[in-house]
Amino acid sequence: MRFDPSTRGEGPETGVECPYCESTNTVRDHPKGPGLCRSMHYCEDCEQPFERFG
Ligand SMILES: [Zn+2]
Repeated sequence: MRFDPSTRGEGPETGVECPYCESTNTVRDHPKGPGLCRSMHYCEDCEQPFERFG
């Protein structure tokens, strides 16, 4: 398997689609742990935190 360093645990800071309401009015939250493959985001529209993998 190839490993692209440009995608290592770094997703977009904003504009990630909310899995609940499909809004892209979201912000990235700070990770709470050593999760290398996921990031925390928060939806401003439905006020729900969610995780994004990959
Ligand atoms: Zn939402």
